[in-house]
Amino acid sequence: MLDTASLVNLLAQPKKIVITTHHKPDGDAMGSSLGLYNYLIQLGHHAKVITPTDYPHFLSWMPGNEEVIIYTDHAEQSNTFIADADIIFCLDFNALNRINEMGEKVGESAALKVMIDHHLEPADFDDYRYWNINACATAQLVYTFITDVLHHKELVNADVATCLYTGIMTDSASFRLPNTTSAVHRIAADLIDAGAVNWRIHELVYNNASENRVRFLGHCLVNRLQVYNEYNTAVIAVTHDDLEKYDVITGDTEGIVNYALAISNVRLAAFIVERKDKVKLSLRSKGDFPANDICKKYFSGGGHRNAAGGVSTDSLEEVVNQFKLILPKYKNLLIQ
Ligand code: 5GP
Ligand code: MN
Repeated sequence: MLDTASLVNLLAQPKKIVITTHHKPDGDAMGSSLGLYNYLIQLGHHAKVITPTDYPHFLSWMPGNEEVIIYTDHAEQSNTFIADADIIFCLDFNALNRINEMGEKVGESAALKVMIDHHLEPADFDDYRYWNINACATAQLVYTFITDVLHHKELVNADVATCLYTGIMTDSASFRLPNTTSAVHRIAADLIDAGAVNWRIHELVYNNASENRVRFLGHCLVNRLQVYNEYNTAVIAVTHDDLEKYDVITGDTEGIVNYALAISNVRLAAFIVERKDKVKLSLRSKGDFPANDICKKYFSGGGHRNAAGGVSTDSLEEVVNQFKLILPKYKNLLIQ
């Protein structure tokens, strides 16, 4: 493991740096990556953000977005950057399988790997770790990494602030989750002072949907929502035909699970979607219900207590049935 002084020393001279984040990047993945990117380029570093896969339109407006390389579109070019890098920042993930086939290349690269993350149980592939599971977002950690570790608060300019605000806003579900502490609100205030236009960021992320996406949401809530009141649980199960009928594209399913959680007694909500070759689960919970426990034990996944995900190769119907059969095991935690 590298010590902090050595990392600070390394970053004192321009370096070749790759910043990467988990596949199907969300607001925190893109916000933390581009926030760090906009900081590093001010120091003369040659930095590249490489995402394992594409990401939604409502996250494609942040400063530096036009420089992002999507691995699946530019594998060869990305492999060269990864192999030649001095430092690879791994943001918002902590196991190389979260970056798909890029994981092998990152693992093989001689670059120093710096993990900045807030997920449980980090794997052992990094040389330096700035990790805190109590952080509401990796973007929060990037902020304190810049201000407290690197002592460069003055380099949090409007571009950095805009990206980091987006990460914190999205991962805290708009400052709603229990980990949105007063410290998080103070950081958000600092970011606004540094030039993040909070109301505009909100518009760009949450009021930037296609008509199809809004109609698809309606379809999910009217035709696909099931509420199991005896377990205070709601499930939205979506078929592949639904996705085709509504022309669902990357990002259109994001956040729909939260509508199920809006029902007052619901403590656990699942969005279960039939993709081409797998069924993907997105779980959200209220309070201390451990959604990640279900994902980890039964659906080869993980995540946070209140937001977790998993996957299955069984059919949609089977996955919904398995999920229902799991609920009695958690009855005590669900009925409170
Ligand atoms: P989402 O429901 O938005 O896909 O994911 C919510 C959170 O669950 C993510 O931030 C991530 O931490 C975690 N997560 C989602 N899918 C997986 C998965 O397949 N494996 C693991 N380990 N975590 C996941
Ligand atoms: Mn995150």
